[in-house]
Amino acid sequence: MTPKDAAATASRSLQRSALEAARADARARAVALAAELHAIVEASEGANLDDEKDPEGATVAFERQRVASLLDGARAQLVALDAAEDRLDDGTYGICSECGTPIPAPRLEALPTTTRCVACARR
Ligand SMILES: [Zn+2]
Repeated sequence: MTPKDAAATASRSLQRSALEAARADARARAVALAAELHAIVEASEGANLDDEKDPEGATVAFERQRVASLLDGARAQLVALDAAEDRLDDGTYGICSECGTPIPAPRLEALPTTTRCVACARR
């Protein structure tokens, strides 16, 4: 292994840890949000609220919508993290999917699932 290969392997393993940490976060968030959503649904069923007439029902419906959309986001993040790990395995992780240039490390650290460099993302 050349020093350059060794450096690439080291950075891949750092990237993999970062993806795994992000995955643990997203999974914990998804689990917490699913529990929260379940509790909201149960509480609203127990209270038998009417969304149309009861102002509290509207609040519950809004809250349920909000939590459901956060849950969707957490699940989408998990899917994006899977795709990022696949790219890491096939050696295309951190390469802009549009222009083919390497994505700078600070951007990857901030957005581990990004597939584009700043310039392409702005377009
Ligand atoms: Zn690009």
